[in-house]
Formats: sequence, structure tokens, C-alpha cells
Amino acid sequence: FVVPDFLGFTKDIEEIYWKCKSNTDGKVASYIPQLARVNPDYWGVSVCTIDGQRFSIGDVHVPFTLQSCSKPLTYAVALECLSQKVVHQYVGQEPSGRNFNELVLDHNKQPHNPMINAGAILVCSLLQTLVHSEMTLAEKFDFTQNWFQRMAGGENFGFNNSIFLSEREAADRNYALGFYMREHKVFPEKTNLRECLDFYFQICSMETTADSMSVVAATLANGGICPITEEKVFRPDVVRDVLSLMHSCGMYDYSGQFAFNVGLPAKSGVCGGILLVVPNVAGIFTWSPPLDPCGNSVRGVQFCKELLQVFNFHRYDNL
Ligand code: GLN
Repeated sequence: FVVPDFLGFTKDIEEIYWKCKSNTDGKVASYIPQLARVNPDYWGVSVCTIDGQRFSIGDVHVPFTLQSCSKPLTYAVALECLSQKVVHQYVGQEPSGRNFNELVLDHNKQPHNPMINAGAILVCSLLQTLVHSEMTLAEKFDFTQNWFQRMAGGENFGFNNSIFLSEREAADRNYALGFYMREHKVFPEKTNLRECLDFYFQICSMETTADSMSVVAATLANGGICPITEEKVFRPDVVRDVLSLMHSCGMYDYSGQFAFNVGLPAKSGVCGGILLVVPNVAGIFTWSPPLDPCGNSVRGVQFCKELLQVFNFHRYDNL
């Protein structure tokens, strides 16, 4: 076993869980009514080790939409299907130092990285035009959903239609990003911007649980092999690229501090989720909707910090 004393490990996780539960700081995302109405008390943590041992506590079976937690997943699919060379002709690897939806491109007039909105929208256009150009829109959705399900060991990914409709309705900034990128000829030639943004909103609106997302994190922790099904979902070089950018860019404009304090690759979303990867050990997913001013889950960030007080998981522990 990779975690020999799994019961002891889960006791520590449980203790941290209760410690964070009493933290009621932060505000739930309010840019669409469906997210604004979410109960701020929801708090769940799930762990899946790379040899398939699982532990969950709290609201781990309540569905929520992926939002930006989907960004490393779509990026991984693009790398797997297209190669690093092709993907990074279109998008950079640098933290933007700005908000996740800031109207800004890098020096090459490309999105800074695939973990912010501009980069994720671009990755959606790559999937649409270069990977599945022959597919119908419905098939493109199914294709992506199937990939996500394979990462999660076959567990279910649903779709929240009212969130999708609201996302699309309240998307001025994402449209602005799309037009700005089109002005600078960032997209592959055949891109249909409206379809590309719809695809992006659909992926943000895919619905899952903390329990299933911990398996996704574990697949990344395990170099691309799902610990539950033992299926080889991604090549190791794909996972290396995904974890590198999660490490430097995954926590919005808090990524540098997170890399310093926690030293692990992670990706947060406005849903209140944090996908946390402990390479070669385990995948962890925390879900609590109230967010700090950077847009990261308050309890989730606290959990990661407390975890690092107890375990030497930081990239530069053990030197
Ligand atoms: N749907 C959200 C948006 O595009 C996702 C952003 C996020 O989770 N940070 O604005």
C-alpha cells in the first residue's frame, strides 16, 4: 500500500475537515442566480490513493458544476489528442498575474495559459476544430463527457442545463475574451466562435461530486492511469504538463502563494471546488462554495494548508 496506515491517514483528514468546517468566511459566487443560491454550509472532502483506497467525509455526494475545475481536464484531453507541440502553438505557459477572466493576452498576443478563461476557451476551439472536426456538436459533447468519465473511473458526469443557460446569458466577459482573441487571430482558422463558447459553457456546466473528482485527481497523481479501473487514460508526459501548469497557474491570482505554501498542483473553480494532486500518493478533492476575494474556496485553501502542517507533501519537503 502506498499509504500503509490508511486508517491513521483518514483520522488526520477527518480532524482537518472538522477544523475547517467552523470557518464561515467567504462569499458564494453570485454572477449567476443558480450559484448564488447554493447552500454555503456544504463541505465535503474526498481522497483516493493511487492504489485505489478511498475515503470521504461530508457533502461528497451532492452534485455541483465543474466550472474552472474542468480546465486541467480539457487541457489534458487536448494534449493527449494533439500533442504538446500543437497545443502550445496557440497558448502559453506563464501565469497571467491577473484575474481569471481578465481581458489580457501575453506578449505573443496569445492566452497566458490554459488554466484561465482565455486559455480554456482557446483549448475548447482546438478540441472542436482539430480533434473532432468531423463530429456533430452533440458528438463533441459526448466525446468530452466520455473522457471525463474515464478519468473518474467510469463514475458519472451529468450536465446542469439551467447553469449552462445562465452561464451563456451572463457571459459578456467570456464573449469579449473570444472577440478579442479572434481580433488577434488566436484561434484555428475554422473556429466558430459562438459554438466554441457554447462548448466552453457546456464543459463548465458538467456536474459531478467530490467523490468522483477525487478519482480524477488520483488518475493525475498516478501518471495518467486510473487507480480504480487501471485504464491508461493519459500518457505520463501529458500528466506532467497538466500538473506543471496547475502548480504555477491553478489557483488564480493566488497561484504563487499557493505554490510557496502548499507546493502541490491544484485547480480551483467558482463552484468552490479544489482539485488537489499529491503526485505518486493520492488525489484529493475539496468542495465548499464560499470563496475568498481571489475566487478560491476558503475552506478548501485552509484544508490544503492544514494538510501540509501534518504531512510533508510539499514539492520541496524531504530535501
Ligand atoms: N463559468 C465560469 C466563467 O467562465 C468559470 C470560471 C471559474 O470557475 N473561475 O466565468
